[in-house]
Amino acid sequence: MSPGRIAIALFIAYLLAAPFVLPEFYVTLMNYIGLATLVTLGLVLLTGVAGLMSFGQQVFVGFGAYATGVLTTVYGASPWLGLGAGLAFTAVAALALGLITVRLSGHYLPISTLAWGIAFYFAFGNLELVGRYDGIQGIPAISLFGWSIESGRGSYALIWAVTLAALLAAHNLLDSRSGRAIRALRFRAVMAESFGIDTARLKLVVFLYAALLASLSGWLYAHFLHFVSPGAFNVNIGIEYLFMAVVGGASQVWGAVIGASLLTLLKEWLKDILPRFFEQSGNYEVIVFGLLMLPLLHRARDGLMPVLARLGRRNGRAPARAPRAAPALARRAGPAAGEPLLGLAGVHKNFGGLAAVRALSFEMRAGEILGLIGPNGAGKSTVFNVVTGVLPADAGEVRFRGARIDALPARRIARLAIARTFQHVNLVGGMSVLENVAIGAHLRGAKGTASAMLRLDREEERRLLHEAARQVERVGLSAHLGEPSASLALGQQRMVEIARALAADPVLLLLDEPAAGLRFQEKRSLAALLRRLRAEGTSILLVEHDMDFVMGLVERLVVMDFGEKIAEGLPHEIQANPLVIEAYLGGIE
Ligand code: ADP
Ligand code: MG
Repeated sequence: MSPGRIAIALFIAYLLAAPFVLPEFYVTLMNYIGLATLVTLGLVLLTGVAGLMSFGQQVFVGFGAYATGVLTTVYGASPWLGLGAGLAFTAVAALALGLITVRLSGHYLPISTLAWGIAFYFAFGNLELVGRYDGIQGIPAISLFGWSIESGRGSYALIWAVTLAALLAAHNLLDSRSGRAIRALRFRAVMAESFGIDTARLKLVVFLYAALLASLSGWLYAHFLHFVSPGAFNVNIGIEYLFMAVVGGASQVWGAVIGASLLTLLKEWLKDILPRFFEQSGNYEVIVFGLLMLPLLHRARDGLMPVLARLGRRNGRAPARAPRAAPALARRAGPAAGEPLLGLAGVHKNFGGLAAVRALSFEMRAGEILGLIGPNGAGKSTVFNVVTGVLPADAGEVRFRGARIDALPARRIARLAIARTFQHVNLVGGMSVLENVAIGAHLRGAKGTASAMLRLDREEERRLLHEAARQVERVGLSAHLGEPSASLALGQQRMVEIARALAADPVLLLLDEPAAGLRFQEKRSLAALLRRLRAEGTSILLVEHDMDFVMGLVERLVVMDFGEKIAEGLPHEIQANPLVIEAYLGGIE
């Protein structure tokens, strides 16, 4: 068993034993920890993994608590109806808030979450229906199979059953096709879109899931305390949840338990001693939390979870375990060799006053390797970005197999079986080589977030990972399968980029300077790989600096300089072309 699994088994054993050995007071504390873990877990996914910072999760806790509070006390409804109504209301509210805010970038998103946090706090406090600042009293206990959950220990069982289920679901989610996509959202959204991932939709899904977890926590809270008031949904509570996520390790599912436990215990302890110290009562613990955050952010920015994980795994290297064999994924029927494949006509792309690509036209046929060369800054990468939909063209047409694609977003172009690598390596650094490559096969799977949480995706997942492993092997990196991609040398990372593009089963492969940073031997095996791909029917548009590498490989060349095509032809024609020689010599000067 891995140290991680042992830790989880020990934790579950502790959870099972705790209500029998701990005094009632500590069982109650454990209940608070479970409730906080649920909210923090949502924040881990939202903030730590997907990179969307929220100070407003307490509002969704409030929705869950108030919905069931009102329904059960005013209308005498069952708590289960309260749960359904709370989740439904939260879902609608989260989708509405999410549609407005999730697309905001930078600091606008956290500010908007603060804004709704403040707005709903005052709304809870001023609405007659929800008891203004007095809140709602006398919320009944939940009954389950005729058994009324009155005691702290009864609540404990329910709270921790729900919390464990949520932790497991989140763990499963991150270890899946959708999970890999979610893990790419934070730093690699452009790459994700280029492999067909709808990042805006996925962000909304994560936002919704985090809100529902918070709402669930609110429902449990209301029936556990039999009471809700606006004070529990103040903005500083939202900040505390964020602290919990950061302390535990904002990108780690189990970090939610650690953060929630530490801060809940610390808060309890500080509540006891600080008023004595200040000689009057008040919420002084926030001061201490704030001060403790400073050294933490300096010394362990990723929270405590990675520190603990390092302790557990002393030799520090993930095992390179090949995934189990699985039936191969279906392959796509490509066009016949010689069919028109890609055509650019009069393409322009400006950056402000700079014309990066000017009136560029060229044709490419299926089955060929076309080289696109030119000095630095000639506009080659910009051509790639326009063809793959990463950047919109300002004018001109791009056709693929006869159809216009220049108005399509990157993820739609990916569906046409166009796959690319990036000049500046665009891997998810903390993710293993195998998982990075599996992102390339995203569109060859279909299972979504719900089936991932319930582990109904295992059959498909095995096939995706098997395909990814096959591509990793093809580029000669099988020995590094389980390593984080960031730990590889730059040349190897470029090969991972190629494997990821191949995992998409592309008809057209666009490679942006794949040989840069490779050693001589590696260049030779790359050239051999590209020849093999061509023999299998894959067409390749190759941007490359290394003339020797290109000349022996390509059928034809297009040469660019200052955004314009200055020559096109067979390799030996290009080598003798005075314009090309001058452009390259000029480039060296
Ligand atoms: P190449 O790949 O041939 O080296 P690029 O396509 O990367 O050239 O760049 C062409 C020109 O466009 C360069 O002058 C570069 O500085 C500029 N450029 C590229 N991308 C951007 C961008 N996103 N914003 C502004 N200028 C850019
Ligand atoms: Mg470039």
